[in-house]
Amino acid sequence: MERNVEFNKQDTFFYDLFLGNKIGQVIVDEQFNIMFANIRMFELLDSAPYDVVNMSFGRAFHCSELGVNCQECGTGDSEYCKSCGFMNAVRTIKRGSLIDNSTVKFSCCYNNHFEEKWFQLNGSKLSYHDQNCIALVLADITDLKQREKHLKELLSLDLATGSMNKYSLMKAIRKRVRAKETTDQYSICMIDFDNFKALNDQYGHLFGDKVLEKFSDIARRHIRKDDIFGRYGGEEFVFVFDNIDERQSLEILKRIHTELEKYFTKRYKVSVTFSAGVFTVDNGTMPLSHTELLAKVDSLLYEAKSRGRGRAISPSGEKPFMNE
Ligand code: GH3
Ligand code: MG
Ligand code: MG
Repeated sequence: MERNVEFNKQDTFFYDLFLGNKIGQVIVDEQFNIMFANIRMFELLDSAPYDVVNMSFGRAFHCSELGVNCQECGTGDSEYCKSCGFMNAVRTIKRGSLIDNSTVKFSCCYNNHFEEKWFQLNGSKLSYHDQNCIALVLADITDLKQREKHLKELLSLDLATGSMNKYSLMKAIRKRVRAKETTDQYSICMIDFDNFKALNDQYGHLFGDKVLEKFSDIARRHIRKDDIFGRYGGEEFVFVFDNIDERQSLEILKRIHTELEKYFTKRYKVSVTFSAGVFTVDNGTMPLSHTELLAKVDSLLYEAKSRGRGRAISPSGEKPFMNE
């Protein structure tokens, strides 16, 4: 690697140590231009080693954010990328603080290959030949971050049915209900399986489990990306359909019911039905909290049960799921 400063013998010894170090290390000036970078830095950022001295950090390591024209790193109008963890670290160090095991994300694009990586970063101020500089030390924690993400996803799921569990369902509903910027309507539906205790008693608990699993598979196929679907309790589930009115919600539930009912009568000659409560919210007109909304659909569901099950009740009426 080219150096732009004269080294004495001792410097050369330490430079060689630095260069071959198995930990990513880079020394930048206060403008975030590279003074030294070791080989490991290039390995970590998926690039072949080349001469990066005096280059901005982002340009040297193929930061994919350069398209946003960050002045400090690339050539452009906007002053700097506020979201760049490395740049923020450099600013913090310039102000006199240390960076102690902070986590930063870096997106790089090298040879048309896009990669997002996570690093544990340590950094401090240095002075070299009277020049102020900043040393950054990086460890790749991308694998750990991916495992963390996977575990978080698992924790948010009900493992028996693969749908959201109650905790993540409530969180998602609360977020949807509080989203003030959305002016459109959405519908909230609660369903509960009919006579499920008797179904378990007659065909076994494993059969009951199969019903819940199949229902969740079918439900997931009938919802869209921004809809919410999760397990609210034992054999109770909640849907939130985005930009969907009461009539359309009843149609979706009926399609799910029909597919489920057909599947179990055809395969097992068992009639499986559920009941539902459906309520549509026009954002802005009725400020109800998520718990008030859930109480509302719960009472509509209760009404559906008392009117004979196998149907949905909404404020404007009733929709039987079976063709009567
Ligand atoms: P209703 O039509 O009034 O809702 O009657 P129901 O029998 O469905 O209602 P009840 O609340 O009396 O019983 C619900 C049953 O659901 C009892 C419970 O054992 C069963 N259940 C809850 N979770 C599961 C589950 O994960 N698997 C199975 N197989 N059964 C479950
Ligand atoms: Mg039930
Ligand atoms: Mg129930």
